[in-house]
Amino acid sequence: VLAQLGGRITRALEQMSSLTEVDDDGKALTDCLNEIARALHQSGVPFKTICAMSSSIRRIVVNLDARTNDKRRIIHEAVFTELCNMLDSGKPSFTPTKGKPSVVLFVGLQGSGKTTSCTKYAYYHSRKGFKPSLVCADTSRAGAFDQLKQNARKLKIPYHGSYMESDPVKIAVEGVERLRKENSDLIIVDTSRRHKQEAALIEEKPDLVIFVIDGSIGQAAFDQAQAFKQSASVGAVIVTKLDGHAKGGGALSTAAATKSPVIFIGTGEHIDEFEVFDVKPFVSRLLG
Ligand code: GDP
Repeated sequence: VLAQLGGRITRALEQMSSLTEVDDDGKALTDCLNEIARALHQSGVPFKTICAMSSSIRRIVVNLDARTNDKRRIIHEAVFTELCNMLDSGKPSFTPTKGKPSVVLFVGLQGSGKTTSCTKYAYYHSRKGFKPSLVCADTSRAGAFDQLKQNARKLKIPYHGSYMESDPVKIAVEGVERLRKENSDLIIVDTSRRHKQEAALIEEKPDLVIFVIDGSIGQAAFDQAQAFKQSASVGAVIVTKLDGHAKGGGALSTAAATKSPVIFIGTGEHIDEFEVFDVKPFVSRLLG
């Protein structure tokens, strides 16, 4: 859908451009903006965001000198800039430093791809020369520790968890202490979506809280993000499942709505289907 979204926007812009001149009554522009709005809406971008974006573009165009023969390029640029603004939180994220121990806490709804993303994040950093480790502080479901353990073993990285202990904070504190001693410089803590437990873990002051959001749920992502914005000091966002038929536009703009930067996107179940997220190249690609 992301590719489809990009295709539709590009086609709308091309259609407008194929007219010999951008017409004076602005019909071509209106058609183009309407088509872009429809495409964005179908990919889950909230209506309010779309309206704001369309008015900004209109403002730019209305203020153009009628004799400008560069209108099309300017409109194209305005669309580019507005999409970037929609996705850019304008706030850099904490980034771990090699050799300096940091603790990163992953939060998000069950099924969002949290555990998978923890592993991908660990793998990405181990390839960069970090010494990552994984802690399973998800005591809400049987099998969570096994899943994490399996992943850690595959990556040959240290891990910590417990089958007996039911207090996630205890596990996390113990794990962080142990793994620090073992010289891990990036301790990644996987949690369950239990409000109280999450809050208690955040109390422990991790260096970064990453909110994992399922990119395939479109508009529904909005409420989720809002809830998280209130409950957690989210420092960064990872949007998963932006492969297949993901309603990525919604999740991405929603991530921007949390005012936290999107740092990675998940594009598949496999460990290396994980990309650093950069707004401008992403939008460039989106617009072809
Ligand atoms: P958790 O409950 O949030 O820890 O979710 P999991 O990490 O167990 O993931 C739930 C499901 O989503 C699993 O089947 C994963 O393989 C799948 N998944 C996670 N990330 C992605 C992704 O980027 N793309 C796709 N297609 N599937 C993903």
